[in-house]
Amino acid sequence: TEEVMVVGGGLAGCEAAYRIAESGIRVRLCEMRPVRMTPAHQTGYLAELVCSNSLKSEDPATAQGLLKAEMRLLGSLLLDCAEDCRVPAGSALAVERELFAAKVTGIIRSHPLIRVEEREITCIPEEGITIIATGPLTSDRLAAWIRDVTGEDNLYFYDAVAPVVTADSLDFSKIFRGSRYGKGGDDYLNCPLTEEEYRRFYRALVEADVHEGHPVDKGLFFEGCMPIEVIARRGEAALCFGPMRPVGLESGDGKRVHAVVQLRQENREGTLYSLVGFQTRLRFKEQERVFRLIPGLEKAEFVRYGVMHRNTYINSPRLLEPTLAFTPKDGVFFAGQITGCEGYMESAATGILAGLNAVRLAAGKPLLVLPRTTMIGALCHHITSASGDRFQPMNANFGLLPPLEEKVKGRRERYLAYSKRSLRSLQEFVDKAELG
Ligand code: FAD
Repeated sequence: TEEVMVVGGGLAGCEAAYRIAESGIRVRLCEMRPVRMTPAHQTGYLAELVCSNSLKSEDPATAQGLLKAEMRLLGSLLLDCAEDCRVPAGSALAVERELFAAKVTGIIRSHPLIRVEEREITCIPEEGITIIATGPLTSDRLAAWIRDVTGEDNLYFYDAVAPVVTADSLDFSKIFRGSRYGKGGDDYLNCPLTEEEYRRFYRALVEADVHEGHPVDKGLFFEGCMPIEVIARRGEAALCFGPMRPVGLESGDGKRVHAVVQLRQENREGTLYSLVGFQTRLRFKEQERVFRLIPGLEKAEFVRYGVMHRNTYINSPRLLEPTLAFTPKDGVFFAGQITGCEGYMESAATGILAGLNAVRLAAGKPLLVLPRTTMIGALCHHITSASGDRFQPMNANFGLLPPLEEKVKGRRERYLAYSKRSLRSLQEFVDKAELG
C-alpha cells in the first residue's frame, strides 16, 4: 500500500493517522475545516475539542481512567499532548483547549509521512485503504454517500439515549418479567408503580433541572423521541398513556398497577438494561435522583445517562466488525463517534484501533480484535454486537466488561479489580501481537 487515506482530522482521525505514520506508512489526512466548518467547531485546528475541556477521570477505578491507561499502553498521541497542556482539575485530565489542538496539529502537520489536505471528502475511493472518522457532525454530502452504501435505515442523525443501568444493581423483588400483551415472552423487566408512587415520581420529574445542551442540539424534538420530562409537562396523565402505560402488563400478584417503567436488555450478556422511552435532558445528578424513585431502581447504578444530541452515526452492529472494518466495502474502516461510541476518549481510542488495523491490512496480516476484558475491546464488541434494531451509542463503562471470575466486595475494589484484569490482558495481547 502506497498511502492510507484518513477522512476527518478530529480526535479519532488524528490518532489513526499518527499510528499509521509511526508504522512507516504514508497517510493522506483529509480535513474539511477551515474550508468548510461544522456547526460546533470554531477553529481550523485538528483535534479540536468542541465542548468541555475535560478528558474526564484518570482514576483507575473509573471506566474513563481505565480507558486512558489502555490508550497509553497502545501509544496515544492525544494523551501525550494532553499531558503537556494540562490544567488543574482534580482527578480528571483537563487541558487548555486551544493549546491542545494546536499541539496535536503541529505534530501531525510536521510528521514526514502525513500529508494534510484541507478539503471535504464526499465519497470514498474504490481502491486503497480508508478510515472514515468524520465524527458526529459528518458533512451532509459524505453522510449521503454513507447512506447510499449502507441503506437508509443504517445511518442516524441524532441520538435520543435513555439511561442505562446495571442488572446487578436492580431490586428484583419489586420487578416482574413480561412483555406487553405477552408478545415477546419474558424479554422485559417491568417496574410497577402505585398511584402514590407515580405521583411522587411525576412531581420530581417535572421539577427536575434540565440541561439544555450545546446550541447545535436545539430543535431536536420529534414526536417519536420526546424527552420524558417534556411529555410529562403535558399533564399528569400523559406518561400513563405514553412510555409508562400499564396496559397489557400484568404484575402477576393481582395488584393494581397504575404505571410501569419497562427495562430492556441492552447487551447479549444481560448485564445492562435501559429505561424504555426515557430519553431525557435532565442533568446527570437529577437523573439519578429522580429515576431512583422508580420501584426496583432505588439503588440503580447508572452506567450511561440519558442524552439527546445531534449525532451522525452508523448502525455498527450491522456494518462493522469488532476490528472496525466496514463489512459492505473492503479496505474501509470507521473510527470515532460515527461508529456509535460516545465521548472524546472513546472516539480517540477507536482511532488507535482503526489505525493499527489499517497497518495490519496493508501488511497482509490478520486484523486485531482487542480482548473483551479490555475497555476498548469491550466497547468495540458492544457497538458491533448490540441489537441492530435500535442501536444507541455507548460510552466506556464497567458494565460492558465480562464479570470478574471471583466476587469482589465494594464498588471501588471491584472496579480496581476490573482495571487490573484489563491492563494485564492488554499487556499480554500487545506482547503477543508485537505492537509495542
Ligand atoms: P470529530 O472530533 O468531530 O472529528 C471529525 C472531523 O471530521 C472534524 O474535524 C470535521 O471537520 C471533519 N469532517 C466531517 N465531515 C468531513 C468530510 N466530509 N470531509 C473531511 N472532513 C470532514 N464528548 C465528550 O467526551 N465531552 C464533551 O464535552 C463533548 N461535547 C460534545 C459537543 C457536541 C456539540 C458534539 C457534537 C459532540 C460532543 N462530544 C463530547 C462527543 C464526541 O466525543 C466529540 O464529538 C468528539 O470530537 C468525537 O470525535 P471524532 O474524532 O469522532 O469526531
